[in-house]
Amino acid sequence: MIKPLLLNQRFIARLGNIYVDEALFEGGLHPQRKADTLTSDELCRLHHSIRDVLRAAIKDQGTSVSDYVRPNGSKGTHQYSLLVSGRAGEACPRCGTTIERLVVGGRGTYICPRCQGKSAL
Ligand SMILES: [Zn+2]
Repeated sequence: MIKPLLLNQRFIARLGNIYVDEALFEGGLHPQRKADTLTSDELCRLHHSIRDVLRAAIKDQGTSVSDYVRPNGSKGTHQYSLLVSGRAGEACPRCGTTIERLVVGGRGTYICPRCQGKSAL
């Protein structure tokens, strides 16, 4: 599955649970999608999504949802810009469908079931 693969620090370093959910949403990919079924277009989209999500998070100086603080003790502000992570029950910012929480690879996972449809599994 693509989500556990993206969280595997031996595969790609420094992507955490929140950023993987945001990147998969941006890329329109279901977190349970089998990684070896991604087309080259989908891989390209995912690559761009990961870069966009990380760039935005760095610009906001991090995502302080639990205990993360910057070296000087101040909080980042990216938690206010998250599109799906932590937003179960809220409306998808793209299509209005209710965001759902799943457990994928043992991790809490937030998706829009329409934008990241299971039909793509
Ligand atoms: Zn949606």
